[in-house]
Amino acid sequence: MYTLGVDIGSTTSKCVALEDGTGIAASSLVRGGIGTKGPSGAIEQIYISLGMSPGDMDAIVATGYGRNRFHEAGAQLSELTCHALGARFILPDVHTIIDIGGQDAKVISLHPDGRMKNFLMNDKCAAGTGRFLDVMANILQISISDLETYASRSKAPASISSTCTVFAESEVISQLACGLNIADIVAGICASVANRVAALVKRLGVTPAVCMSGGVALNAGVRVAMENAIGCPVLYSPKAQLFGAIGAAIYGYQTITSERKGG
Ligand code: ADP
Repeated sequence: MYTLGVDIGSTTSKCVALEDGTGIAASSLVRGGIGTKGPSGAIEQIYISLGMSPGDMDAIVATGYGRNRFHEAGAQLSELTCHALGARFILPDVHTIIDIGGQDAKVISLHPDGRMKNFLMNDKCAAGTGRFLDVMANILQISISDLETYASRSKAPASISSTCTVFAESEVISQLACGLNIADIVAGICASVANRVAALVKRLGVTPAVCMSGGVALNAGVRVAMENAIGCPVLYSPKAQLFGAIGAAIYGYQTITSERKGG
């Protein structure tokens, strides 16, 4: 049985095809989220890699910011539930999930059986989200995937005191003008995102094991700064950006299995 999870985000579309609820048969990640060709491109990659067509999928479940506008899905499920399911599938001991995406950040705590216990979210301000990193990478003319390399070279991270992205942008430009080392500026930018989200984590309570999900989890500079800010190791998987799509595919599998059992 094949189930497809489609995570339509604000910046990126992610798909995962799951075989019999246990193995990832194919995955895709395409730049471009809601309102772009990203979702159809990501889905097409899955069908090409599996040699399948839409009718071959036993279930299609959508999640993410754009889930309600994706009408090919048989069901839509919240990102919170999907990230919880996906994180537990890859990292079974996780109790706290820190999801930082392109336009928001969420912290989710789980019951020991994996059900969601509580969550906190910042979707009001770009600081503490991937958007902050995207803006800063653009000013520094560094690719988003290279930020971690710069951060790792820093000996004295710069302090970014502005809590607003627009003011922080001016602060970074003046640091550049003063000749501050780029590695130190990047480390300061990563710490700024981590510290903003760490405040949410502390409000919710840090129950180990902790992991990061979403695209910003790929940035080791933010992960290390997060560990320092919350005082606890942060687990990481290279599939972190796919957790939502994995969770959606798992939900599709669970729904079909329970229907077939008559429950
Ligand atoms: P959304 O679901 O809102 O589109 P994602 O969870 O896909 O968000 O994360 C997107 C964010 O992840 C981007 O804004 C960017 O800052 C960050 N990101 C994406 N790819 C990388 C990478 N290779 N290294 C570091 N950060 C990345």
